[in-house]
Amino acid sequence: MAENLFPNDLFSLPGFTRPAPHGGFPAHELFPDVAYEIVHDELILDGVARMNLATFCTTWIDDKARRLMAESIDKNIVDKDEYPQTAELEKRCVRMLADLWHAPDPASTLGTSTTGSSEAAILGGLAAKFRWRARGGTGMPNLVSGPVQVCWEKFARYFDVELRQIPLRGDRYTMHPDDLPEYCDDNTIAVVPTFGQTFTGLFEDVAAISAALDRLHAAGGPDIPIHVDAASGGFLGPFTAPDLVWDFRLPRVKSINTSGHKTGLAPLGVGWAIWREAADLPRELIFDVDYLGGNMPTFNLNFSRPGGQVITQYYNFIRLGRAGYARVQSATYFVARHFAKGLGAIGPFELIHAGEPERGIAAVTWRLTEGPDYNLYDLSDRLRARGWLIAAYPLPAGRQDETIMRAVFRHGFTLDMAELLLADIGRSLRHLSANPWRTPLTRAQAGGFTHDAAPEVP
Ligand SMILES: *Cc1c(COP(=O)(O)O)cnc(C)c1O
Repeated sequence: MAENLFPNDLFSLPGFTRPAPHGGFPAHELFPDVAYEIVHDELILDGVARMNLATFCTTWIDDKARRLMAESIDKNIVDKDEYPQTAELEKRCVRMLADLWHAPDPASTLGTSTTGSSEAAILGGLAAKFRWRARGGTGMPNLVSGPVQVCWEKFARYFDVELRQIPLRGDRYTMHPDDLPEYCDDNTIAVVPTFGQTFTGLFEDVAAISAALDRLHAAGGPDIPIHVDAASGGFLGPFTAPDLVWDFRLPRVKSINTSGHKTGLAPLGVGWAIWREAADLPRELIFDVDYLGGNMPTFNLNFSRPGGQVITQYYNFIRLGRAGYARVQSATYFVARHFAKGLGAIGPFELIHAGEPERGIAAVTWRLTEGPDYNLYDLSDRLRARGWLIAAYPLPAGRQDETIMRAVFRHGFTLDMAELLLADIGRSLRHLSANPWRTPLTRAQAGGFTHDAAPEVP
């Protein structure tokens, strides 16, 4: 009998005689081995994260980081009293980031970890909205930006703010500082430049935007603060383009968000919001949580959250330091530039961003030149057959009729992998050229694995 229940062969257990439950709530139990195997095997159909060049997020972490994640799987970061050292590590990370981004007094400024840049961006937007109201702002608040990531559209819609995205014009892919006066007014709560644009990977020129806002104010216009969305660039610029001025060195920059789980190299699930000075985060947004007899200010949308990501972020900071981050990020840029060179040589492509550290993140963005009767959705689809996930999508407002493709390079993507990818792109292009009778794919047919699709506006 026992032999019937526990055969040596896992796949002959009774749990495998029926398909996995996927409708109503399951009535019966399964052995853990069976349940595990069902879940594990189903996930074989997911893409391979390290071959996913559409994502900005961490897809490789070292064994020590994995160990810290496993050791802290049961820690809730909101329980500051129960897990005081996790709270302490979070505070240290905030000070380290404030220092990295040149806050005037890193020891006294405020900031918080979040689930990612979306939450951090929303917190930055809310602080700007509350400051605007405290200045006497009434009416409908607005936020001015270039082409932004969808989190700003969410912020605007969820919190009743008008989002004024300046459309692209001319041959420039980022916000024109000259356009700002036309879009800003007394109800502009902040201008949001993106330091590492979603669409192209390019850095918006925060210093020039700040100077334009200085001129607007000097000419009698409103005095408008800046929040920098540095989701992807916040951990690059300081190490690989240190002379680029985009952070708290500019007095107009009042807050910055970044994704620890992108170029911060932490595992998925951590972002950061940092304010220039404590006074830039309005008091009424802060909730005090009891903390070892004292008080711990918290400012988050979530309550319970895992602690491991913050712990592992701190591990990354002390493990790598400035020297280590500079080395890791430079290596990633090196691979990106190598890929860009190879790409220019094999296809009818025009490069928009070739992975230069002074211009943008370690990504390569390109479009097709005139001629071929296939499009970038076709290429994306062909590459997918080999397991490579690379996004093709239209440019934002102003140039929606142009399709571009973007590959984001990350820590753990080696030169050899870049060579294999280039070889597959070459093979795909030859296949597409050899099959000219096929109908080119549309964006919808190619599958929507970009994360920046514009939402439906109701
Ligand atoms: C990824 C990204 C976001 C959203 O960040 P999450 O950490 O995924 O929530 C916001 N802004 C920009 C510019 C991004 O690249």
